[in-house]
Amino acid sequence: MTSRRKFLKLSALTASVFAVNKTKALNLAEMAAPAVKPIVLSTWRFGIEANAEAWKILNTNGRALDAVEAGVKVPEGDPKERSVGLGGRPDRDGRVTLDACIMDEFSNIGSVAALEHIVHPISVARAVMEKTPHVMLVGDGALQFALSQGFKKEKLLTAESEAEWKEWLKKADYKPQANIENHDTIGMIAMDGAGNLSGACTTSGMAFKMHGRVGDSPIIGAGLYVDNEVGAATATGQGEEVIRIAGCHTVVELMRQGMKPEDACKEAVTRVIVSMKRRGKSFTDLQVGFIALNKRGEYGAYCLQKGFNYAVYSVLEDNHLVDAPSLR
Ligand code: ASP
Repeated sequence: MTSRRKFLKLSALTASVFAVNKTKALNLAEMAAPAVKPIVLSTWRFGIEANAEAWKILNTNGRALDAVEAGVKVPEGDPKERSVGLGGRPDRDGRVTLDACIMDEFSNIGSVAALEHIVHPISVARAVMEKTPHVMLVGDGALQFALSQGFKKEKLLTAESEAEWKEWLKKADYKPQANIENHDTIGMIAMDGAGNLSGACTTSGMAFKMHGRVGDSPIIGAGLYVDNEVGAATATGQGEEVIRIAGCHTVVELMRQGMKPEDACKEAVTRVIVSMKRRGKSFTDLQVGFIALNKRGEYGAYCLQKGFNYAVYSVLEDNHLVDAPSLR
């Protein structure tokens, strides 16, 4: 057969494969395409600076775990960011209590909840993961452990946050509001050049919460989940609702079943609404948002109310903010 004939035959064959089973052929082509990596995503506008820090590690062949820890430390250490770490809004007793967790490609996990006086709870979570036989430490126990590891005890309540709290005390009306930054967690998920996934999530939680309240952010499976064979997801918004549907584990499981990241996030948001309707609760002023990344470096997000955005930085795209599609 001449090479021209061979070519025509091959083209005809390929065309018929596409015609007979277009979806399957596309999926095979997609699977054969190289993964987009490294890549990092993180929640909200402070994700831009956090991604930039993470990128320094990802872009020099570093590990995703190191990148996500370094990335989320940026808003944790910034007193102007009032929903994470230093300068985070306090609980109703005026105490800044922090929640954080981290997960790597080997399913190692570490978490702290209701931790006070430590600027970088994500690094304490990592120390729990690497240096203890446990996966989660809370309150005083978490603080004692942090101090034993050399973390410095600091005052986290800034003058601005204290003034806001005193103002809040006048009415003492606890009312989380969608996209009003009285909460907002940084959740970050990344795939490194070696194709390994990790994630980190850290927050001061809902402003003026009850003392001892813990949200979704330090709970593996709720605020964060990573499965190195499938993908990773992280969440922001009303933690009670994310916990109720085991949010990020749900997103990763849906991706395992073949859903694209955005579709998986949308389904998780839908489940939040279903669970709220079941309890006769209104969801008109409540925000929940998920971001997700799969092993091919495809990403997506979804939220309940308009107004949630996230930052993306990859080998193909410069660091930029994306508005998440919303159910309402
Ligand atoms: N999910 C966090 C919490 O419930 C708050 C947020 O991300 O807005 O503590």
